[in-house]
Amino acid sequence: MRTPLIAGNWKMNKTHLEAIHFVEQLGHELADHDPKKVEVVLCPPATALRSVQTTLDDRHQNLGLGAQNMHHENEGAFTGEISPLMLKSLRVKYVILGHSERRQMFGDTNESVNAKVRAAFAHDLVPIMCCGETDLERENNHTEARIEAQVREGLAGLTEDRARRLVVAYEPVWAIGTGKTATPEDAQTTISFIRGLLTDLFADEVSSAIRILYGGSMKSGNAASLLRQSDIDGGLVGGASASLDASEFAAMIKAVTA
Ligand code: PEP
Repeated sequence: MRTPLIAGNWKMNKTHLEAIHFVEQLGHELADHDPKKVEVVLCPPATALRSVQTTLDDRHQNLGLGAQNMHHENEGAFTGEISPLMLKSLRVKYVILGHSERRQMFGDTNESVNAKVRAAFAHDLVPIMCCGETDLERENNHTEARIEAQVREGLAGLTEDRARRLVVAYEPVWAIGTGKTATPEDAQTTISFIRGLLTDLFADEVSSAIRILYGGSMKSGNAASLLRQSDIDGGLVGGASASLDASEFAAMIKAVTA
């Protein structure tokens, strides 16, 4: 039985003070939320991680903490980067890796994502590894080939013991921040293809334990129908849809737990 997961990816939004305000408002709206029904994770920018962590620890322990990226090394001369050790010391549990914005604008490759995935597990962080096709790849029927390479290369060398805790996020690039959402049926088709790849890489009981999220303009109005699909285990929700507005984000969580 896979516990659904909704993760808010704030991207480069909110100062640490705005972050605290958001968490207090969300925590108030979700005061009765049961994380055993749906796990809720907030992924603020690195500058707000500490403030969000203490606010969650003090008052809203039913909500979890994630980061948006990390370097694979523990420490060293990597100006501007953040290490798994640093995230771990802030009691971060999840880390988004290989988001399409990082692949397109900051040079992330399947190989570097793989190094980060391994480093995350080595520090007991759970990677939310992103994959997804562009508009052009979709038009040229390259969706499966693109995703297969991202999944196989991103997960190369992963042991089954670690893989069962993995989270994969299928985020069609054409749906991110555009207001266009894949239909639940289309998202299910691609996510079931991803589960098939995982079954090829790992034992059945491992691939069936891995949570696969949908991401791309998910909001309170469409989240429940997406999560009703048999292979869709939650959502990665970005800035253009619901994750930056506490009321809308809370409404989405309530819609999927109703
Ligand atoms: C994302 O960036 O992970 C995302 C899903 O964005 P949005 O919800 O804004 O489409």
